[in-house]
Amino acid sequence: QVSETTVDRDIDTSHMQVSKTEVAIDVVNMHKWYGDFHVLRDINLRVMKGERIVIAGPSGSGKSTLIRCINRLEEHQEGQIIVNGTELTADLKRIDEVRREVGMVFQHFNLFPHLTILQNLTLAPIWVRGIPKAEAEATAMHYLERVKIPEQANKFPGQLSGGQQQRVAIARSLCMQPEIMLFDEPTSALDPEMVKEVLEVMISLAEDGMTMICVTHEMGFARQVANRVIFMDQGQIIEENEPEAFFSNPQHERTKLFLSQIL
Ligand code: ADP
Ligand code: MG
Repeated sequence: QVSETTVDRDIDTSHMQVSKTEVAIDVVNMHKWYGDFHVLRDINLRVMKGERIVIAGPSGSGKSTLIRCINRLEEHQEGQIIVNGTELTADLKRIDEVRREVGMVFQHFNLFPHLTILQNLTLAPIWVRGIPKAEAEATAMHYLERVKIPEQANKFPGQLSGGQQQRVAIARSLCMQPEIMLFDEPTSALDPEMVKEVLEVMISLAEDGMTMICVTHEMGFARQVANRVIFMDQGQIIEENEPEAFFSNPQHERTKLFLSQIL
């Protein structure tokens, strides 16, 4: 299921500024267990503002668990996770603030089927952030234009294609004006012809300087857009490198094996 979709234009990453001093996410000696199962083992990952990180690795290696910990959808048990300067602890009030700053897009779009696209986009801004309806709708339309489907605003999710629904899910995250976006295999549930339209939206976010962590098997996207590729296996980060070096000169046997499936 690893694939090499490429977009049709050259992507110039030279202007995608990565801060040398501002840390967006810092994961330090982090461990997590599900019951007795040691799912994440001593994870160390520092993400600077403006970085575009791709996380790859076999199924079951802990990729989803790692990014779910960063958004506090899962709790870690040892070590630290610091997001925009706030350490994720059991202090729930601050966790809500952190969640607002970190958008997440899942494999399955998780749109509310009985609400229109516009209602899906304005629900959290109105009820969680207390933004007036008219303003929330204006913001929603702005981001629907951003993902190139403003004409779908009054339809229901079931009337849209999978690619369109995933673009709505991305727009919904953007409506909360996050500083960091986490993507968990956003294209793996899509028919092949819809992968590109979603990758295009992710690329345009990168071009705007969004800090992004993307779990994806789209190695074309990793080559074109990531500034760092991280490879996980069995709950550990076993290799990380710039895409060029990661693909041309993998260091570990398990990375070579993984890449041999696509090259
Ligand atoms: P990946 O995203 O790399 O496929 P996951 O993070 O989903 O990996 O899962 C890592 C491991 O943790 C797998 O062995 C999976 O079965 C296990 N796991 C995931 N979620 C849970 C859970 N809620 N309870 C128990 N085990 C889980
Ligand atoms: Mg996963």
